[in-house]
Amino acid sequence: MKIPSVKGFHDVLPAESARWANLEASARGVFEHYNFAEIRLPVVERADLFRRSVGETTDIVEKEMYAFADRDGTDLTLRPEGTASAVRAYVEHAMQSTEPVTKLFYFGPMFRRERPQRGRLRQFSQIGVEVFGRDDPAIDAEILVLLSDLLQAFGIESATIGVNTLGCAQCRPGFREALVAWGEKHRDELCGDCQRRLQQNPLRLLDCKQKQCTALRDSAPRMLDHCDAQCREHFERVCGLCAAQGVELTVRPYMVRGLDYYCRTAFEVVASGLGAQNAIGGGGRYDGLVRSLGGPAVGGIGFALGMERLALVLEAQGVEAAQPVPEFYVAPMGEAAETAAFLLTHRFRAAGVRVEMDSGSKSLKSQMRRAGKLEVPYVIIIGEDEVAAGSITVRDMRARSDRRNVAGIGTEVGALRAALAAEERA
Ligand code: AMP
Repeated sequence: MKIPSVKGFHDVLPAESARWANLEASARGVFEHYNFAEIRLPVVERADLFRRSVGETTDIVEKEMYAFADRDGTDLTLRPEGTASAVRAYVEHAMQSTEPVTKLFYFGPMFRRERPQRGRLRQFSQIGVEVFGRDDPAIDAEILVLLSDLLQAFGIESATIGVNTLGCAQCRPGFREALVAWGEKHRDELCGDCQRRLQQNPLRLLDCKQKQCTALRDSAPRMLDHCDAQCREHFERVCGLCAAQGVELTVRPYMVRGLDYYCRTAFEVVASGLGAQNAIGGGGRYDGLVRSLGGPAVGGIGFALGMERLALVLEAQGVEAAQPVPEFYVAPMGEAAETAAFLLTHRFRAAGVRVEMDSGSKSLKSQMRRAGKLEVPYVIIIGEDEVAAGSITVRDMRARSDRRNVAGIGTEVGALRAALAAEERA
């Protein structure tokens, strides 16, 4: 009996993991320039962490968390997102005392029990960043420029960054009131979920995907018209700095985020080629969150990009994830040859070369077939004759020619490369 994987939990196979490794390597390069440091966070947290930060009435907490009781009764959950964990770690280790501005990045899996579809999984992976200790608009702009740099480094061509302001603790209540008044006026036209949201979480009315609600939305109040002067100035400065740097933003006045903790700057990246799940990343400012989780009163801002969706966009763009090809394939025939091949292979590997070797009990024909499939440029053949002569034969797979006695059986890789180059010139 085969045991299948769990619905919504996918393997990333070698053909695809090469793409992931490229994405991670590009991201590390960009993070280095921005002076961010990596944090590795656990995947299991106390369920309360997300109830108190993401919000009790959000879809994530209400419907999607993999929460369970540990054997001692502790309420745990697989983390549905990274920000709350990063804040928990920041507070737990009092990171503000060593570095007043803390800039972190992380890679890793998140878990949400959503309905699986293309681009939507129950375990998915994110690249995330968080900055603690600054609440000025210049850091928001820096984060947006970083986001744009990442997309460029990944080779994502058709992504747009949408921004909005969600106001602050002072001006949001007034906006909320205006929104509830508008919602009440249109109550009968709203979907059932939104009728319920109207009291619990009216901001979410704005990003409902139901047709009847999206049709109404143009008449809804906008945070940009209701926020106070400081929030407006903050937003304008963020947009101004990004424009000065040549980073294009699209103002999306009805964009809100699915998590309760955001304030002021909020943003989302959408890309074409994905179908319904077209958001590849999102984030925003969350002043107040660190304090509400027991830490100091410092501001924070961050975002996360979904690896699976980035990979899908690249695939749709026709970007191939190059599989690394070994430089040499070592094909021994017989046991004595296998010993010599084994030693040569490990000598080359120790010198930093990618080498593949098969068993000396296989026929030369099957080894050549495999080397051909791997697209290896050179096959090092070691048979009885080579062992007796103390030298190796190299088949140049592109020229389809054998070079006998090209080097000694104990050759170093540098000497072999030089000998092959000399033969090629001849
Ligand atoms: P969020 O934390 O909801 O703002 O999501 C940030 C990004 O993570 C999204 O834009 C997606 O790229 C990715 N993401 C979120 N949920 C899923 C999911 N269920 N499956 C795959 N990717 C996801």
